Amino acid sequence: MTEIFDTHAHYCSHQFDADRETLLAALPDAGVTGVLECATHSGDAPAVLELAHRYPYIHAALGIHPESLGEEDAPTVAVYGGDWRAELAAMRPLFDDPAVVAVGEIGLDHHWPLPARAQYELMEAQLQLAAELDLPVSVHDREAHAETYELLRRYRPRGVLHCYSGSAEDAVWLTGQGMALGFGGTTTYKNAKRVRQVLAVIPKTAAVLETDCPYMAPEPVRGTRNDSRNIVHVAAQIGTLWEMTPQEVLDLTAANARRIFQIKYNRRNQP
Ligand SMILES: [Zn+2]
Repeated sequence: MTEIFDTHAHYCSHQFDADRETLLAALPDAGVTGVLECATHSGDAPAVLELAHRYPYIHAALGIHPESLGEEDAPTVAVYGGDWRAELAAMRPLFDDPAVVAVGEIGLDHHWPLPARAQYELMEAQLQLAAELDLPVSVHDREAHAETYELLRRYRPRGVLHCYSGSAEDAVWLTGQGMALGFGGTTTYKNAKRVRQVLAVIPKTAAVLETDCPYMAPEPVRGTRNDSRNIVHVAAQIGTLWEMTPQEVLDLTAANARRIFQIKYNRRNQP
């Protein structure tokens, strides 16, 4: 039985408001047996937990995304006035929930004009939290390789560098120190030469698949609202590189995801 494990999703996004229940009920019939649903701040963290409680195949990652430091309506700004330390402290009890399997989404983003020092310290604090709680991380690195790698070298977390956009050379040491790399829609885009070079050099046990839905839909559905079912297109692309069938890629990467996030059994058939 083929498994689709989506290691990075945002089903709490308002883009799913109209049909979230119908969609999430339908995913298991399409072979989706695991989803890591990632919070972005204290505002969506309770909704992430609610989804994880409601759907047996959904698991929760809680954290503060760097973009939350720059979004006027994110509670990081709107409620805490940029005091992310207070926000993280307020979120701390939520991590005791057994549905939480990771700290995320955390990371650095130099694409948007976000406060550089604050986001660095925010990521660092959440790496420390992951170490304290002995949880893996889901890391966002957009145009911020140098600082992200500096922190990953220093704290050596386990987990996933999502939507990996670095070089093949960096992929080798990152996977060598225990990080897995997440591959999604960009893997299928025409100019994804670099991603394909990465996939050629990393151990296959260090690759996981993801959507980052509602964003980043793969070819041939690029530009539409993404969901976990589209991961089959990513698996097909990787299969051509690895000389494996899409099913073999899905099964291997799902097993990798379960190992990384320590999801020991398939809860799909449980009520
Ligand atoms: Zn994300």
